[in-house]
Amino acid sequence: MCSDIAGKPEEATTPDFTTLEFTPQVPIPDYLTGEIQSKLAYVDQQILAAQVKEDQITLKVASPGDLTAERRAEVIEKVQRVVLSMAKGAFKPKVQVLEDHLARPVPYHSDPMTELLASGQISQEANGLFVLGPLITRLVAYFEAQFLALADSFQAAPYRFPTLIPAGYLERVNYFRAFPHSLTFATHLREDLEVIDNFAQHAACEHSELQTPPNSFAPIQALLSPAVCYHLYFSLADRPLPGGRVVATAVGNCFRYEAINLTSLERLWNFTMREVIFVGEKDFVLENRELARQRMSQVFERIGLAYRVESANDPFFIGEFRKQAAFQSAFQLKFEIRARLPFKDATLAVGSYNYHQDFFGRSLNITLPDGAPAHTGCVAFGLERIAFAFLAQYGLDPASWPAEVRQLAA
Ligand code: AMP
Ligand code: ZN
Repeated sequence: MCSDIAGKPEEATTPDFTTLEFTPQVPIPDYLTGEIQSKLAYVDQQILAAQVKEDQITLKVASPGDLTAERRAEVIEKVQRVVLSMAKGAFKPKVQVLEDHLARPVPYHSDPMTELLASGQISQEANGLFVLGPLITRLVAYFEAQFLALADSFQAAPYRFPTLIPAGYLERVNYFRAFPHSLTFATHLREDLEVIDNFAQHAACEHSELQTPPNSFAPIQALLSPAVCYHLYFSLADRPLPGGRVVATAVGNCFRYEAINLTSLERLWNFTMREVIFVGEKDFVLENRELARQRMSQVFERIGLAYRVESANDPFFIGEFRKQAAFQSAFQLKFEIRARLPFKDATLAVGSYNYHQDFFGRSLNITLPDGAPAHTGCVAFGLERIAFAFLAQYGLDPASWPAEVRQLAA
């Protein structure tokens, strides 16, 4: 699902980049090629593209001329470290499929990006940042209406959360260790007249980068939030859970920096997530997660979405990956709604059904009436992704859309 690479038979050089091909130190099993490929984006700033196969890794590395032998060795060594850490001794997770509607016939088979860009329905501001025009905005509103109806069916209380999240919050739930690679930091100029004056007079962008002395910026107190439900858990921290149960819903901007993987609407730096969040006893959370899945299954059937729901893991960073992914898989903590992308014979996660056990209850001291830590779970939908997957299956012409979507979104 990541960047493809121009096929070059052997190690070759061009003025702008060098292609490196080499064998991974241990064979990479099929089920890990995507995970490892996406991590290579973070290995070296000069890696422009990466492709991982069982017995071959191909990298496109930026270099004005030929890459020096030293740099080649350095890049390859870093990649091999990732391979060893993620693939050595890994065992195949048992994928559990809860629903399989991938074979539902859909009328469209092209990449919607081409038409969306050509028609001006989207425009790109930077990598992973897109302006969405009326077509997608109306589609997003249609899906939001479905998600809000789901939230209503649980009488979820509406919330609004900030886009920024305090650094101390993420630290307290171990986020820095699990997902350091995708963090986005917020800062501001130091409260210092000289610094601010200097910035006002000299700030300029070069190659899309702001040229500012790093010591102009204040220490980081907040980050751009990577998820929605964390804000709710923190608002419930360090006290008994009111009434022993909470169901809430919110939509919010989320940020995950995915480097060279940010190639189309499929993977954004800044995206929007709608969540329905359950806090309470274990059975309450698990039963509602399952009910949410069944209710959404009816929506997806009505509009003829081709998808499947299967067990999954979060994209933990290299050192944490093996242990955490195995844990999530063993306890069936995460299921993804993976919509078909007919144009590339692949699937894309448009939502997830998550159960965190009592992790947040314990970490944040949220207690049930009997004093035990609360359990939490959330159902999360990526709004841009579901609209994109729908367009990939039904095309841009509302005349080809299912009647319900056409009436409400067109
Ligand atoms: P997660 O919490 O990782 O399960 O994310 C919930 C949903 O948010 C996913 O199923 C996607 O639909 C969406 N999502 C996650 N990361 C991105 C991204 N980088 N770009 C666009 N949508 C995303
Ligand atoms: Zn969540």
